[in-house]
Amino acid sequence: MVPKFDLHVHTVYSDGSTTLEAVLEEARSRGLEAVAVTDHGPGLSVGAEAPRFLQLSSEVRRMRDENGFKILSGVESNINPWGVLDLGEEVREKLDLVTAGVHYLDSRDCKTQAREYLRAVREALRHRSFKILVHPLYYNKSLLPWIPREELEEFTEELAEAGVAVEVNSKYRAPDKEFLQECLRRGVKLSIGTDAHHAQEIGAVDWQLSLLRRLGAGREDLVLDFL
Ligand SMILES: [Zn+2]
Ligand SMILES: [Zn+2]
Repeated sequence: MVPKFDLHVHTVYSDGSTTLEAVLEEARSRGLEAVAVTDHGPGLSVGAEAPRFLQLSSEVRRMRDENGFKILSGVESNINPWGVLDLGEEVREKLDLVTAGVHYLDSRDCKTQAREYLRAVREALRHRSFKILVHPLYYNKSLLPWIPREELEEFTEELAEAGVAVEVNSKYRAPDKEFLQECLRRGVKLSIGTDAHHAQEIGAVDWQLSLLRRLGAGREDLVLDFL
């Protein structure tokens, strides 16, 4: 069985339209086991500044204690070209979940983008600074066709060593199933995220669930019980 959860939701803390209360309500009504609020970090113009994440952390903790529902505070941190996250460690460690992704690349051609993308994420992996890689291998489109097989295998191995999970993201329909198969083979845990910016998108994970079932993934392959 693949558990139903959503570890990628934006709120009014960054560029989403929902309040924390609405996230909790949607998560419950959709029958999720867990939901994470992962607003953008300060590296994006729409992102929240560090003090807001401290506020988010305490608000979410209060809601969890009051409601007994697994709602987590988090960030979708931006990984810069040098592999550095846009939220400092002292704030990250106050959050329940640190996710990270690449949002800006310098070059225009896909082959160079794929190289830049991998360089940034591999550098970030060395710092062990995040738990889930969001919309993996995606930048305007899938970069997978421009990544040599051997390099993909090395990259997946590094994810496994770093204990970083890979998100199955329904907003971008990323990553490709070939990469997910490689992750499953090497014991990289998978996560489920909608990248919801509006209430009705929260927990709409049917695409992920059917894909994961088709790939033969089970609960033990998912990151939920390992957070
Ligand atoms: Zn993103
Ligand atoms: Zn997002």
